[in-house]
Amino acid sequence: MAKELNFKQELTACFGQPVSENPTQAMVEAAYRHHGLDWRYLTIEVAPDGLADAVKGARAMGFQGFNCTIPHKVAVIEHLDGLGESASVMGAVNCVVRRGDQLIGENTDGKGFVTGLKELTDPTGKEVVMFGAGGAARAIGVEVALAGATKITVVNRSVERGEELTQLLNDKVPADAEFVPWDKTFAIPESAEVVINATSIGLFPDVDAQLDFDFNTLREGQVVADVIPNPPRTHLVREAEAKGCKVIDGLGMLVNQGVIGIEYWTGVDADPSVMRKALEEVFG
Ligand code: NDP
Repeated sequence: MAKELNFKQELTACFGQPVSENPTQAMVEAAYRHHGLDWRYLTIEVAPDGLADAVKGARAMGFQGFNCTIPHKVAVIEHLDGLGESASVMGAVNCVVRRGDQLIGENTDGKGFVTGLKELTDPTGKEVVMFGAGGAARAIGVEVALAGATKITVVNRSVERGEELTQLLNDKVPADAEFVPWDKTFAIPESAEVVINATSIGLFPDVDAQLDFDFNTLREGQVVADVIPNPPRTHLVREAEAKGCKVIDGLGMLVNQGVIGIEYWTGVDADPSVMRKALEEVFG
């Protein structure tokens, strides 16, 4: 039977970029298929000097939202209509959501991390050691504090970045933050209940890279988290498992931030296991 074709005021997109291998796209579209959502999530490369036009385009084309990566996480803010609480504290956005006729910037990286953390332990009152002071560390530090952690030790190679993040945490969230310059092998204090690698150490292709801390200071039952999604079984993850720690890998964080983004855009609570499987297929 013939179908009525209803041509409205449309632009039909046609662009040639290598989108099929993008892990986040594979993960989000797997969730859309699984939940029968007639939605698309496409990866579109945007140069820094095209960002303002790209956001205008997203408005004009009725996007329900989009994720943005480095170098757009801070620069996008001036093109939006408002920010969620934690994005405003961090000064960085990785997820934009249309609410009514406004585009609101959120940050789901740290929220995704905390979802995974809460599956293993309640962060309330916990003492955290976090390696790193870049974008991921900033997102995690803010959200872990908003979730109730009371002490955060920031261990970072660059003193300037480490001090800047520590200051931000002390000024803007209800946790006590302390900076330790990472200039020698670090020993995890016995009082630390959660240890986080928020550096890029271990990311492909440097898959055997090791954090410079004394692995004998890890103890059984401690929660150890690594942000590295590729490969997920980093040296830290393997060491922590061998010591009997409870481990969160970087795929968990990536999946959970995706679940939150999908919920913001579509209202659907996506199944994380489907999304993790899609990521595992991409990362082999
Ligand atoms: P940034 O570049 O902003 O920060 C990198 C951090 O790693 C800095 O603290 C840097 O220290 C530290 N670092 C890098 N190399 C070394 C080294 N050899 N020795 C000591 N410290 C080092 O990156 P992001 O924070 O944006 O990302 C960090 C990692 O988090 C990436 O690998 C990314 O893939 C991952 N990530 C994972 C997510 C997930 O969902 N799983 C989400 C977001 C990020 P210094 O300041 O001294 O340079």
